[in-house]
Amino acid sequence: MPQLGSAEAPLRVAIIGSGPSGFYAAEALFRQPDTVVMVDMFDRLPTPHGLVRGGVAPDHPKIKSVSKVYDKTAANPNFRFYGNVELGKDISNAELHAHYHAIIYAVGAQTDRRLGIPGEDLPGSYPATEFVGWYNAHPDFRDLKFDLTQKSAVVIGNGNVAMDVTRILASSYEELRKTDIADYALEALRTCNVVDITMLGRRGPAQAAYTNPELKEFGELEEADVIVRPEDAALDPLSQAAFDKEHDATAEKNMKTMEEYVHRPVGNKKKRIHMWFLWSPVEILGTDHVEAIKLVKNELVVGADGSLKARATDQFETIPVGLVFRSIGYMGVPLADVPFDQRGGVIPNDHGRVMDPATSQQVPGEYVVGWIKRGPSGIIGTNKPDSVETVNMLIEDTAKLPAVNPADATPESVEQLIKSRKPDYVSYSDWLLLDQLEQSNGQAQERPRIKFSTIPEMIDALAKIKNA
Ligand code: NAP
Repeated sequence: MPQLGSAEAPLRVAIIGSGPSGFYAAEALFRQPDTVVMVDMFDRLPTPHGLVRGGVAPDHPKIKSVSKVYDKTAANPNFRFYGNVELGKDISNAELHAHYHAIIYAVGAQTDRRLGIPGEDLPGSYPATEFVGWYNAHPDFRDLKFDLTQKSAVVIGNGNVAMDVTRILASSYEELRKTDIADYALEALRTCNVVDITMLGRRGPAQAAYTNPELKEFGELEEADVIVRPEDAALDPLSQAAFDKEHDATAEKNMKTMEEYVHRPVGNKKKRIHMWFLWSPVEILGTDHVEAIKLVKNELVVGADGSLKARATDQFETIPVGLVFRSIGYMGVPLADVPFDQRGGVIPNDHGRVMDPATSQQVPGEYVVGWIKRGPSGIIGTNKPDSVETVNMLIEDTAKLPAVNPADATPESVEQLIKSRKPDYVSYSDWLLLDQLEQSNGQAQERPRIKFSTIPEMIDALAKIKNA
């Protein structure tokens, strides 16, 4: 029998999910000097690139340009993309095991963390993750409606997603028009009534999770002033001590920018971003719509792990508001027949090897990368070393990977199966055609692209191009 990973018996790997972590895993597999690898990447959407397409803010085109790197990986002759094919629906886990030596789950974190406070689900209170999907033309979210008739909005959370949501709400039509924001979102935001957006951090500005370029962008908005009260930008003694000790470069830059915002004269722009710190929501109030939010003032205390935590005081404040975006992090969801850690929202793993919590044993042939491996943190680039780590484990395991019937371990047998289940699957070359079409549709309106936002629309457009 030829050795697995040789030219005669290539190592066949299925990657589930085509976001950054999946592509970095494919890249790491192709970089193996002594192993021939064939990669099939599956995505339930016809379009690849995960959060690069569906998460990165439309006004951040530079970040999106990382997709060129993924195109390069996809050009490897040993790479195939099966878009519009869903694990658990169009193909099962058992079928993947029958055709591949290894499976890498790269499905990200597909839902939002809950606040767990009364009123969280009142109309007018939305998870930021849904708003992000909506303005980015993600098919799952394109039909959602957000009540943009309200004048006042609160964004809960101090991460970069909260910054994105706040900035999109605060941007002018002209600023948004230059981006690839979904066309229906552009239209809805054109008539958006929101003028006051309050961002709430449960800790102080020195503990904020956002990064400095995002904070600075607030100060560059055409139609919005940034309002930071001096007491919010002041460092309390505990923060000051941590600040002096840790020299966290991001926190230092953020505090400088905060100082600048405190002293900047407030103009008379149409909209205002208010940044409040050390406030936690305790209840969202209203009868059949959000009407107000009740907050508690926090103080910082040193937690058991030495980090600064928010502790509620007995000071409360209720502010009238009609729109709430809850932006306190993403959360992973379980996959059929794959172990899952409900509390952490991740697939239990040891450096990327999937572990069965019932037996504490490795699940043979299963691996995990990205947010579903380590939780929803880090920038796109963080996924590269994370995927390399997992691929190193997989390669180390080559000799003990589960055997696959040689007749099923062929590219043709999978192709046949997928064609029978999902004749309208989308290959990478199909995607490149769609990509070009979106870009040329955008050119007419001097926009980077006009995104397709429904799956039938994408499949129809592809059929038309192919039949032309
Ligand atoms: P995140 O960075 O983890 O931020 C979550 C925020 O929610 C933190 O401020 C956190 O405060 C707060 N929070 C958590 N639980 C809370 C509660 N119960 N009440 C009030 N506040 C609460 O998450 P994210 O913004 O969703 O971003 C996810 C990842 O994507 C991050 O790594 C982010 O940097 C990245 N991302 C990057 C970009 C970019 O590079 N431009 C854009 C978007 C997202 P504590 O700090 O006190 O826990």
